[in-house]
Amino acid sequence: MAKFDVPKEQWAQVVEKSGGPVVYKKIPVQQPGPDEVLINVKYSGVCHTDLHAMMGDWPLDTKLPLVGGHEGAGVVVAKGELVKDIELGDYAGIKWLNGSCLACSFCMQADEPLCPHALLSGYTVDGSFQQYAIAKAAHVARIPKEMDLEAVAPVLCAGITVYKGLKESGLRPGQYVAIVGAGGGLGSMAVQYAKAMGLHAIGIDGGEEKGKSVKELGATAYVDFMSSKDLVQDVKNATPDGLGPHAVLLLAVSEKPFQQATEYVRSRGSVVCIGLPAGAYLKAPVFDTVIRMISIKGSYVGNRQDTQEALDFFGRGLVKVPFKTVGLSELQNVYDLMKEGKIVGRYVVDTSR
Ligand SMILES: [Zn+2]
Ligand SMILES: [Zn+2]
Repeated sequence: MAKFDVPKEQWAQVVEKSGGPVVYKKIPVQQPGPDEVLINVKYSGVCHTDLHAMMGDWPLDTKLPLVGGHEGAGVVVAKGELVKDIELGDYAGIKWLNGSCLACSFCMQADEPLCPHALLSGYTVDGSFQQYAIAKAAHVARIPKEMDLEAVAPVLCAGITVYKGLKESGLRPGQYVAIVGAGGGLGSMAVQYAKAMGLHAIGIDGGEEKGKSVKELGATAYVDFMSSKDLVQDVKNATPDGLGPHAVLLLAVSEKPFQQATEYVRSRGSVVCIGLPAGAYLKAPVFDTVIRMISIKGSYVGNRQDTQEALDFFGRGLVKVPFKTVGLSELQNVYDLMKEGKIVGRYVVDTSR
């Protein structure tokens, strides 16, 4: 078994007060509890949720001071005495769900993201924007040794989340899914997962550039909401019989697409909400929802099995994440770009600099 010298102190990005900014400083390295592992985080993706955690603008309190981050890929360097199935030196990933009770009615049915005692990385417990992070061993992603830790980091939240949404849609190979926000970070992964699962993806987003990238990633069709005269009709027309997609994956960060999706989804189809526009509401005509038998549902993050499946698609080369790597010390710059809506693809931070 590998042996690691774990330092007493480490570099971290710390949110000291709600609203930020993050402070790059040295903090103590924590020891894992009996059922936990300590992961030397090498790379961590930066998710929009991390910005919300820093700003404190969600209706759910964070811990303070807080180390954010929930897409951390690294190496297990210490573990508690109850951890039997992970060895020191194994690759592992910190994801949004840091831990859950494993005993409630949700955990018993592998719905652990719904556990009332769930611990959330970079939100209610410290996350991956530090060199050494702790997670419950039962919940860390098992990352195969041949995977590139830098490239796999964004799969740990973005990848798992869109893959879970596609599973929740109930679609079968050969069917059509409209992906709203297809040109964004989550969207570009959703298009690839959809294709890999044998689905036809109809990408919806704004602008020619996004259309080009969405098509290159394997979408069957692209509908540009900026140039479309009749979005609803255009989305329906992108299916061979003109009756619309069998499901809609909503990754958008504004409210309007959430109201519109029921208009173009096929009868008997499902509308799956994933994006979280602040303060948004869902509104759909009851009459149409009933007589066309439309399902409207939410999809949160994946469970442990979804995690391993999402990683497996990545491992087979079916999903590639466009990312840009910067030092952990530059995290505030990434947040600033995010606030301005200037991020294309995913930012990954390297904890060694
Ligand atoms: Zn995330
Ligand atoms: Zn539970």
